[in-house]
Amino acid sequence: MYYNEHSILYLDGQWLKAETAQISPYSQTLHYGNGVFEGIRAYLTTSGVRIFKAEEHFERLLYSARKMHIPLTYTLEEMTELAYLLLEKNELEDAYIRPLVYTSPNMSLTPPDKAHLFMCAWKWGKLLGDKTVDVMTSSFCRPHPKSCFVEAKVVGHYTNSILATTEAKAKNFDEALLLDVDGYVAEGPGANFFYEKDDVLYTPPTGNILPGITRSTVLQICKRIGIRVEEKRFRTEDVHHADGAFFVGTAAEVTGIASLDRIPFRKKWENTLGHSLQMLYKAEVLNEVVTNSYL
Ligand code: PMP
Repeated sequence: MYYNEHSILYLDGQWLKAETAQISPYSQTLHYGNGVFEGIRAYLTTSGVRIFKAEEHFERLLYSARKMHIPLTYTLEEMTELAYLLLEKNELEDAYIRPLVYTSPNMSLTPPDKAHLFMCAWKWGKLLGDKTVDVMTSSFCRPHPKSCFVEAKVVGHYTNSILATTEAKAKNFDEALLLDVDGYVAEGPGANFFYEKDDVLYTPPTGNILPGITRSTVLQICKRIGIRVEEKRFRTEDVHHADGAFFVGTAAEVTGIASLDRIPFRKKWENTLGHSLQMLYKAEVLNEVVTNSYL
């Protein structure tokens, strides 16, 4: 699904057939989860293939590496160029790009000597599909911001996401919504969260979440077109019986939520601000001229 016999990937200065690439089983990333990564999308726009917010994504990758003491030596420009080359070599237009920085053999709990840069790409539909999703409040909370850098995209953090998604699927939900350590709503396992009530959107502030690039894009769109958004902490009870809700993320894009804990949102998805934002976001990534007919 992620590669076939023709797929080419980038690894430490080389372009390799995906099937032949090898990494050391002694990597500290494999044993202790100390690696950092990104999830980026490219879109075929009217002016050609464009990686959406490449700079922001590679900046976050550099930030995450710094926070985890991983000596990533590439520049933002070098990584952006590699990402475009990767798309070209794989003849990909609409694609998901996955850079991963993994580390050298190190069985101790000290910073790694060396970082390896791996980058691959594949065609990937919306993470949560095209329909609205049914969500449950997870019994797992997001990591405590004093136990790690929650704002960094670190490999090991995703064990928490896997547990939450697995629990939700086992209970016949599509996705989980995780609270923060104080019991306020935080985010999904791989996306940020918004809800709508009386024509106002609410989203958790930074501090206990991965401050998503899609989240900030959506906030910018709201500002531009005059949708009121409050960044504040709230509880699941505030979300239950609200008008609507949605997840935002690079992989999920804007995904409507039909219900939380089996309580349906009041408005039909098509009548929510989230639905308008879903179309406006699509227009933004495709570099299209936006008209008010979306609203
Ligand atoms: N929260 C988590 C935990 C995520 O993994 C992601 C995906 N990177 C997001 C939020 C959304 O971030 P972005 O919009 O930058 O993809």
